[in-house]
Amino acid sequence: MPGMTTEAKNAVARTGDKAPASWGLGDGQAIPWEYSPAPESRDVVTIEDRYGLFIGGREIEASDGKTFVTVNPATEEPLAQVARATPQDIDKAVRAARRAQTRVWGRLPGKERAKYLYRIARILQERSREFAVLETMDSGKPIKESRDVDIPLAAAHFWYYAGWADKLEYAFPGRVARPLGVAAQVIPWNFPLLMLSWKIAPALAAGNTVVLKPASTTPLSALLFADVCRQAELPAGVVNIVPGPGEIGMHLVTHPDVDKVAFTGSTEIGKKIAKGVAGTDKGLTLELGGKAANIVFDDAPLDQAVEGIVNGIYFNQGEVCCAGSRLLVQESIAGPLIDKLKDRLSTIRVGDPLDKNTDVGAINSKAQLEKITELVEAGKSEGAEFYQPACDLPERGYFFRPTLFTNVAQSHRIAQEEIFGPVLSVLTFRTPEEAVEKANNTPYGLSAGIWTDKGSRILAMAKRMKAGVVWANTFNRFDPTSPFGGYKESGFGREGGMHGLHAYVRLEDR
Ligand code: NDP
Repeated sequence: MPGMTTEAKNAVARTGDKAPASWGLGDGQAIPWEYSPAPESRDVVTIEDRYGLFIGGREIEASDGKTFVTVNPATEEPLAQVARATPQDIDKAVRAARRAQTRVWGRLPGKERAKYLYRIARILQERSREFAVLETMDSGKPIKESRDVDIPLAAAHFWYYAGWADKLEYAFPGRVARPLGVAAQVIPWNFPLLMLSWKIAPALAAGNTVVLKPASTTPLSALLFADVCRQAELPAGVVNIVPGPGEIGMHLVTHPDVDKVAFTGSTEIGKKIAKGVAGTDKGLTLELGGKAANIVFDDAPLDQAVEGIVNGIYFNQGEVCCAGSRLLVQESIAGPLIDKLKDRLSTIRVGDPLDKNTDVGAINSKAQLEKITELVEAGKSEGAEFYQPACDLPERGYFFRPTLFTNVAQSHRIAQEEIFGPVLSVLTFRTPEEAVEKANNTPYGLSAGIWTDKGSRILAMAKRMKAGVVWANTFNRFDPTSPFGGYKESGFGREGGMHGLHAYVRLEDR
């Protein structure tokens, strides 16, 4: 039909539904199942022209007055100028955190700390729409994900750890849990507020204070969180936010007065940080990259598996450390499964992240888009079979079509390297042994998925996966009560659950 988008034409071709004559579309004409635009309002959040650093409970300029720009990756429009922390500012932030820890926060009884955490959780819920819109504009992720996943889960982490603040003696029976002191936390751009909550909530619950550096492409939700801290009347210096470049992250984690370092990001930077803090008595947890296998056996419910595969790799544009980026399919069902998957891909809506119908939004930055493009080209030239559904992309912004590679060999770069984009590599296997071998044939070990009808097979396979998290007949499910973390080059230490508290305490005998 004239005027229809490619996506709508695909949908029509797929369903083959015919319009009743009363619709006046012409005899036997296909129904144009097209979505109307459903944009979320930008007006629910006020984006300031300029943001300072948040140190000692106050917003201050960087010591040299320098700023950087954060842009909306869906439109390439500048959103705000953000103060760029200097080494002097890091010293100031660590001093503020130390003062707050020794004079106030570390002395508060757990039940008093809990009250602040509950307050923060409640405020995040009350301001969830504002946070969701800001997060989507600064990161490119679809509003339905920031609204339904990132922000509710961030609040849930504060609720959960608030509950532990006065119960540490039950978390560590027979021991006394003391805070470590000042925590330096560096977070990435794929789940900005959620990663902040994974880091700040357990640290505060255990009596530590924090200095957190957000990623340079997504500083805004952390700076809005500073406002939540003010609103919750959190004592000055308990939380400090210091946007700035990677070097400033290194300065922060190696600062001599920091007791604990928590990092989420690439394996490359994780290794540098591990070297930077080696030989000191700083505690260290690293949540790094992944190349998860999502394994589908021939007895799996295929339609359900297709939804899980799509959620596993196209959720958050595939910019997910635990993304199911390698699909391992049992050979006998590879044909029908891939047909169903291609069919499903043609219904994925790529576009304006603020539109409530959008499934795949913008890639977080130009640099990331270039990295994805480069690896996809490598996949093509190494001989894998490339497939993308036809779909219209916005003219501006950093967008990439959902991509599927079949006939992938284990040696291909797209089977080995973390792409961190909406790109799925499909490999096949014949026996469970072969599936285990291929799944574990990676330097990473963050997550895995298993799809089968048999509970015994789930248990047998899960035990053999070298992965910190194994999902069965589902994928990318997160819960604050559940620990998360990796093996091998995916890092060490656990975040979430009781295990997440462990990284922020020193245990002493009674
Ligand atoms: P990085 O690991 O570089 O960034 C993560 C965080 O670390 C950011 O806050 C970054 O700051 C900071 N950082 C950068 N350099 C240093 C340093 N030398 N010392 C301390 N902190 C530093 O990830 P990228 O953003 O560069 O992404 C590159 C690749 O990493 C992606 O393509 C993806 O494959 C992977 N990645 C994995 C993530 C995961 O969760 N596993 C998350 C993000 C990326 P700044 O933003 O200022 O550079």
